[in-house]
Amino acid sequence: MNEGQQEKSSPNLHFVRQIIAEDNQSGKFGGRVCTRFPPEPNGYLHIGHAKAICLDFGMAQEHGGQCHLRMDDTNPVKEDVEYIEAIERDVRWLGFDWGPHFYFASDYFGRMIECAVQLIKMGKAYVCELSAEEWKEYRGVPTRPGKESPTRNRSVADNLDLFDRMRQGEFPDGFCVLRAKIDMASPNIHMRDPVLYRILHAAHPHTGDLWCVYPTYDFAHGLEDSFEQITHSICTLEFEVHRPLYDWFLETLGLYHPQQIEFARLNLSYTVMSKRKLLELVKEGLVRGWDDPRMPTLCGLRRRGYTPESIRAFCDVIGVTKFNSLTDLALLEHCVREDLNKRSWRVMGVIKPLKLVIENYPADGEETFEAVNNPEDPSAGTHRVPFSRELWIEQDDFMEMPQKKFFRLAPGQEVRLRYACLVTCTGVVKNAAGEVVEVRCTYDPLSRGGTSPDGRKVKGTIHWVSARHAMASEMRLYDRLFTVENLADLPDGKDFREALNPAALTVVPGFVEPSAGQAVAGTRFQFERIGYFSVDPDSKPGFPVFNRTVTLKDSYKAVGAPA
Ligand code: ATP
Ligand code: MG
Repeated sequence: MNEGQQEKSSPNLHFVRQIIAEDNQSGKFGGRVCTRFPPEPNGYLHIGHAKAICLDFGMAQEHGGQCHLRMDDTNPVKEDVEYIEAIERDVRWLGFDWGPHFYFASDYFGRMIECAVQLIKMGKAYVCELSAEEWKEYRGVPTRPGKESPTRNRSVADNLDLFDRMRQGEFPDGFCVLRAKIDMASPNIHMRDPVLYRILHAAHPHTGDLWCVYPTYDFAHGLEDSFEQITHSICTLEFEVHRPLYDWFLETLGLYHPQQIEFARLNLSYTVMSKRKLLELVKEGLVRGWDDPRMPTLCGLRRRGYTPESIRAFCDVIGVTKFNSLTDLALLEHCVREDLNKRSWRVMGVIKPLKLVIENYPADGEETFEAVNNPEDPSAGTHRVPFSRELWIEQDDFMEMPQKKFFRLAPGQEVRLRYACLVTCTGVVKNAAGEVVEVRCTYDPLSRGGTSPDGRKVKGTIHWVSARHAMASEMRLYDRLFTVENLADLPDGKDFREALNPAALTVVPGFVEPSAGQAVAGTRFQFERIGYFSVDPDSKPGFPVFNRTVTLKDSYKAVGAPA
């Protein structure tokens, strides 16, 4: 058993919890726990971020500490206020509260400049004018040391002057950078005199035109953590190789020093977690927006009908490890199914309608039957469903030539209409093309409520809606966004767009019982025997639109294998 599996079976012992417990015991941070979630506001949050959010906020909560929400807004070109607001909304929706601790990295730009100046004065930073091409050559490769920049040893006075002129806007973008003076021979390429500041004449969503130099992530992030007195700075595995640099800055500057801890990011099958790729899908209109229910974004999942509880449960189940892996989408679907099973009301809805006519039921007759709202929760009570002579049933619940063990409706065969009565198929009506357009049947008046009057066995039970009362609606049925299980496996040169699943969205007309048709956007239902659905904001009065959140049963045979 590898470490990852061990952690999964005992989530209480994951290594981040262990580190924090040890630090609390040794008094490393005086027993304090302060974490942060630091998104860059250059896109919407996705399910991968949810893993980080649950960990950052979760660890703080568990130890009576606090978690800061920090916009890591060091790159003005890609950032936008729209994203900032969406991030706040999504973290809140997921169930977390940062209290007064909402910060912007850009609020620290002044202090960061002071740190850069301090490094220059210490002889540990210099202005470098290498071109992008020269830069590559001077940097070297991990197995071969880099070369020192010709300006590496220019005087402190000259560096101070040049850096000041960089800040004053005297130079164009890319003219020069400020670099740390560390070690051009380090086997860790990130230690080879990394860039601290670059020139960028761009307006910033938060600071406007105040700055024309912007700090790099590596320089800024540790400082942000330090200024905020973070204790445990939890980030994803790719930053492990940056940690020596994180530590170098804080040690060299003599600043308060948080502990960086790295964990494996979430990768989910049949989807992408890259904000850049998600942005492309949105911009190119390949999906309907960031909140398209096909998207792995939190707003997409929300619109699709996912609950915050189900996403938190998923993050709990996947645990936290040091190993990059691919998590099966089926696991996420399992979590939402479990949660919706407990909380959603059962109603009847038909997604592939076929007319059923009860020949011995009066044409103008109608009555209502009692239906259970949620068998998992008796306190949810019951509601009444209208019934009449003409019903809609599911096409899949009828077979003219039934195969073996088909216990639903077929000529001569008797089934139970859920909650209503027993009916026996007497025949069909076909169109010119020979397709069945109507099924005829008779009902047993003694079977009202759906019970067998003489104890005779009726094996099949099907759902239905009354044609006269049902509300016509649009059903949006979703499937995996991509046809490829692991997008990292795409051969070189193959564009990820080519792997988009054309069947990820199928729109069909359907019918629902009246009680579901009046529900407000966001309401979640189980359509009996069909799946979990949520009311989409596109719904119009009298014409509901439903998103299928997930089917009732797992459609995956094994881990990741399509059914
Ligand atoms: P970018 O490429 O823009 O840096 P990012 O996915 O790293 O994208 P950030 O906004 O920097 O996005 O992420 C905020 C936090 O969420 C970071 O701490 C990051 O490590 C974490 N995070 C991002 N993606 C995942 C993921 N797939 N699984 C777990 N954590 C993630
Ligand atoms: Mg990032």
